[in-house]
Amino acid sequence: VKGDVHDIGKNIVGVVLGCNNYEVVDLGVMVPAQKIIDAARSENADIVGLSGLITPSLDEMVHVAEEMKRQGLNIPLLIGGATTSLAHTAVKIEPAAATPVVHVTDASRSVRVMSQLLSEKARDAFVRDTAQSYETIRQQRAGGKAGKNLLPIREARARRETFDWKKTVAPVPTFTGTKVFEDYPLEDLVERIDWTPFFQTWEMKGRYPAILSDEKYGEQATILFDDAQALLRRMIGEKIIQARAVVGFWPAASVGDDIELYTGEDRENVQSTFHFLRQQGAKTDKRPNFCLADFVAPRESGVSDHLGIFIVTAGIGLDEFAKVLEEDHDDYNSIMAKALTDRLAEALAERMHELVRRELWAYDKKEDLSNEDLMAETYQGIRPAPGYPACPDHTEKGTLFRLLDGERNAGVRLTDSFAMWPAAAVSGFYFSHPDSHYFGVGKLGRDQVEDYARRKGIRLAEAERWLSPNLGYTP
Ligand code: SAH
Repeated sequence: VKGDVHDIGKNIVGVVLGCNNYEVVDLGVMVPAQKIIDAARSENADIVGLSGLITPSLDEMVHVAEEMKRQGLNIPLLIGGATTSLAHTAVKIEPAAATPVVHVTDASRSVRVMSQLLSEKARDAFVRDTAQSYETIRQQRAGGKAGKNLLPIREARARRETFDWKKTVAPVPTFTGTKVFEDYPLEDLVERIDWTPFFQTWEMKGRYPAILSDEKYGEQATILFDDAQALLRRMIGEKIIQARAVVGFWPAASVGDDIELYTGEDRENVQSTFHFLRQQGAKTDKRPNFCLADFVAPRESGVSDHLGIFIVTAGIGLDEFAKVLEEDHDDYNSIMAKALTDRLAEALAERMHELVRRELWAYDKKEDLSNEDLMAETYQGIRPAPGYPACPDHTEKGTLFRLLDGERNAGVRLTDSFAMWPAAAVSGFYFSHPDSHYFGVGKLGRDQVEDYARRKGIRLAEAERWLSPNLGYTP
């Protein structure tokens, strides 16, 4: 859908359906609703399928459903992709549509759903059962106590995680401003690849390397892994893709749930502000209500703390390569190339983080961790990524990309929905605090969202749109 760039899942569905004799018209990525509707009409399609990976795509899917209804395109709508859920489909998309809507959790299920929807005999019962199960989900949600267990944001803030800043000497980075890594050597990244998510991409559940000898998947996993090694060697050897990175550090302090970055060490002028969200769920134990801002020294503490930010990509050149493969009808290697490039981007994120800890921020010069320790992230500090559970607002990437000049320095730009293009990219924050950790923000109350919108200088409705998966109330 519009604003989204990730297409591995969609491509796998396309191949699976193609192998089952369905004709798939693939419209590519970042496709506006009108183009989907027009193509469905001109191609005389039986079914429309939408795919998306990042949360803003959920709203875009609702928009497509509404437009199909308004324009009288009455064919079934399939919903898929990592960010979608049965609940969202039932609560938000289906009520907006005038046609049957089906959430399809993985590619292997798509064939069964298609055949039911297109079978004269099975269709009506399937549509009725699906609609009924969605109605049940809606009733359960309405009857549930959504939002009931949320604390007022003032109370949640009073339960912040606190640190003894008087005893803290915050490490000073070796530079402030940005540092660019052009054409980062890809060979260095291969050993840093976490292969488990690679198999997940191909819908094989299990951990690497155990999966290679798994009873159910072992044989296929081994073939896949060998093919992956061969293509990886080729992409690196022939310099088909390129990796780039940019890292930056700024003098920083937390001010409430925001983190201010200053133009200089005198900390007199604010250059930019990052806005964070705080957990609002009522907890029965003593655990605090976490917010990432708490991991940076508060302005009034007088501690000279810093914040790091980064953008990495391994996807420069991938698009052209994938096009060549697709023109050659080599969908398998096209998907493989994308899956591998995603892995290399994650590996580069891991590698840069290591460089930051040991040399650039240099707060852990002696760190000497095994690959397993690195994968398990046992090191000091975190690199949370906007759009992920600790900081679910994708739009904060706007500030991050301005500060790092992402397009010039890393060749990465943001789409309308704040997805990164090329897709094989990672961006985020570096926190050095020894007790910094990941968490999920979870459901938010209206009071916090109102305050958040005010801090960001946007309208409440806009904040609600970007935070919709986290809203613990109905706007
Ligand atoms: N090694 C894995 C890492 C996946 S998670 C891979 O190769 O795919 C990748 C990153 O997501 C983490 O390192 C962190 O940057 C981010 N992340 C994980 N959990 C997060 C959370 N709760 N909030 C924000 N970012 C998170």
